Amino acid sequence: MQEDFLYYVWKLQYFDKKSLTTCQGETLSIAYPGTRNENAGPDFLNGCITINNVTWHGHIEMHVNASDWYTHQHHTDKAYENVILHVVWDHTRDIQQQDGTIMPTLVLKERIAPRLHQQYQRLVNNPTAIPCAKHLPQVVDLPKASMLDKALFQRLTHKNNLVYRLLEDNKGNWETTAYQLLAYTFGFKVNSSASLDLALNLPLKILTQHTDNLLQLEALLMGQAGLLHTDNKGGDTYLTTLKKEYHYLTHKYQLKVGSVQAHQWKFFRLRPANFPTIRIAQFAQLLHRYPSIFDLLVNSPMTALLAKLAVTQSAYWQRHYRFSKESKARIPGLGKSSIRHVLINTAVPLLIAYGKAKDKQDYIEQATAILQHLPAEHNAITRYWDKAGIKAKSAFDSQALIELFNNFCKHKLCLSCHIGVSIMKKRIG
Ligand code: SF4
Repeated sequence: MQEDFLYYVWKLQYFDKKSLTTCQGETLSIAYPGTRNENAGPDFLNGCITINNVTWHGHIEMHVNASDWYTHQHHTDKAYENVILHVVWDHTRDIQQQDGTIMPTLVLKERIAPRLHQQYQRLVNNPTAIPCAKHLPQVVDLPKASMLDKALFQRLTHKNNLVYRLLEDNKGNWETTAYQLLAYTFGFKVNSSASLDLALNLPLKILTQHTDNLLQLEALLMGQAGLLHTDNKGGDTYLTTLKKEYHYLTHKYQLKVGSVQAHQWKFFRLRPANFPTIRIAQFAQLLHRYPSIFDLLVNSPMTALLAKLAVTQSAYWQRHYRFSKESKARIPGLGKSSIRHVLINTAVPLLIAYGKAKDKQDYIEQATAILQHLPAEHNAITRYWDKAGIKAKSAFDSQALIELFNNFCKHKLCLSCHIGVSIMKKRIG
């Protein structure tokens, strides 16, 4: 039993409402179940019920076991002071309110048709990666499309949270925010937090003084990343030069050395093209070519942006994947899938956040156009969907499907999903 099922039953009032009474023996009728609250606080807000002929307006909280009220510490939380009804599957204990009275409680266990519960169990307990897969062909397009929109919106909101956090820390400076966000993205997941740490410890205003000199940009980035603290027994002249430059620039700008350490960077199990050394070198090349990262990402037309992001790192990093470690094969520049990663994780959230902040729909549409233009990702999750008959046609679809899988299907939140609700309705109707 999951609370998800109780929310569904309560929202649609799918239970026997004949002669309703609370556990305390009071008569109960429900005029309005309230609106579902997906945020912190009670599960349904602003409901309306009548207990013993007295009408109450307030919130409704739901639990599988009544004792969860205490387990979840609601008795110490002011947000639950205005709860007028506790709806539970099992009445494991009475709940005492702050005024000493017992919380009116409705038990649903005996009031829900066993067929509905079995139907729900069959839906969520299917062992396939996407539990509803076999029902999908019977689901009409509308719930599928609206659920994909909901999932995409959720994914973009999640990605935007980092933009807003950085923007706040940067006191509304979009340029610095774009630089830090791009650095984070250039960590390509495995090294994202080290990469963001690097940007936070290397002010953009210092890099801006050296955008015409790629070597100095590399010296600053590699040095602050802690990657120049390596011995140079083989006498690598490039490493020697970067060390000298970094030494000079550290003193010039009084840089705090050691904020990011070499051990923070992960190389293990990565392809050489994805080594942080290569990514930092590509990042340096982008800063060298486009001193305003914000302008690059927000004001470049789509096709121009794709071309501009296709940078190749400096000559040294085309032949070395680590300092003094030569590569037999030439190491390529930023490839198509990396560019897609950068667009989805930097340009799109930045455009949406900027469009919202300036109340300009154009930027939001530009972000949507990027997602619709980019080809779909292909990974284990999109393959599950493919097998279930849902094919992603663009990054717009694949981003939505990834979110739907990770945040709904995996947790069996089928009753918070328009597709699941549609399947249940069909089976009940
Ligand atoms: S969450 Fe939605 S899409 Fe995923 S398995 Fe459940 S019903 Fe299907």
